[in-house]
Amino acid sequence: MGAPAAFGSLSLSPRARESVLDRETRDGFAVTAARGRFAPSPTGRLHFGSLVAALGSWLFARSAGASWIVRMEDLDREREVAGAAAGILAALDAFGLAGDEPVVAQSARTPLYAAALARLERDGHAYRCWCSRADLEPFGGIHPRACVAPARDRSPAWRLHVGSARIGFDDRVQGAQHQDLAREVGDFVIWRADGACAYQLAVVVDDAAQGIGEVVRGADLLDSTPRQILLQRLLGLPLPTYAHLPLALGADGRKLSKHEAALAVDARDPLPALRAALHFLGQPASTERNVHMLLSRASREFDALRIPRTATAPPAFAAARNATS
Ligand SMILES: [Zn+2]
Repeated sequence: MGAPAAFGSLSLSPRARESVLDRETRDGFAVTAARGRFAPSPTGRLHFGSLVAALGSWLFARSAGASWIVRMEDLDREREVAGAAAGILAALDAFGLAGDEPVVAQSARTPLYAAALARLERDGHAYRCWCSRADLEPFGGIHPRACVAPARDRSPAWRLHVGSARIGFDDRVQGAQHQDLAREVGDFVIWRADGACAYQLAVVVDDAAQGIGEVVRGADLLDSTPRQILLQRLLGLPLPTYAHLPLALGADGRKLSKHEAALAVDARDPLPALRAALHFLGQPASTERNVHMLLSRASREFDALRIPRTATAPPAFAAARNATS
């Protein structure tokens, strides 16, 4: 618990604070410009959309000579599917996309997140909330600046004061982004009433602790990014750069990751899916007949400027699993 305690009690200049974070809370890693990660949730098998996110983040890191890691985002225990984490890791191996370091699971890192929450509370940025969804209906679902719950008879969640923050950032694929957090999001949950750390806080703490310099992921997380940037600022963490890849949509126009039955990519025959994922990301076609040679060539030829903002998944990989498969 020594490291999280230090994390929660820092009041140093940004430079000094960064060096302390380096020493004590970053799992031993300083932030490296292009160090990347793939962070799947264990809610099903690896589908084309998650393969694109894994390959895309791997290419950004590898083409810059940086390391790349896998993090299992398993805080939502209700959505977790037994065996899914092991299945995803085995599939990544088959696709030649094994991380450079042991996989870290968020479920084992609650003390680190709790220290970050304690710091936000100490600095006056976080407050308890007992609101139900119905309580927020009169406000259009956007939480006002203080809790409005009529009853406080259960465990609270924690929300972050967003103040009047307008957040802008330059995404390497999607271009300039802006969000008025107070108007579009409101004070958001950083710790859930069920006792689990919320995604927005956990991902920010982990990216800093694991030294991630470049966050590459699907565009479904584009509108979460300003919340994460605000958290990074309030916690005094380094800001990574961002690249949000085009989403792979299914035949019905919904993103594949929303399909519980999204067709899994076939890890026994990885080359067709890898080639399709490269094409989806706008990268040159490859005729290599070996996974590692294909990846090695793709990382040498990788050009982030060729990635389209939107793209359509090839039909063979976009279908939902049917009753017979
Ligand atoms: Zn509330």
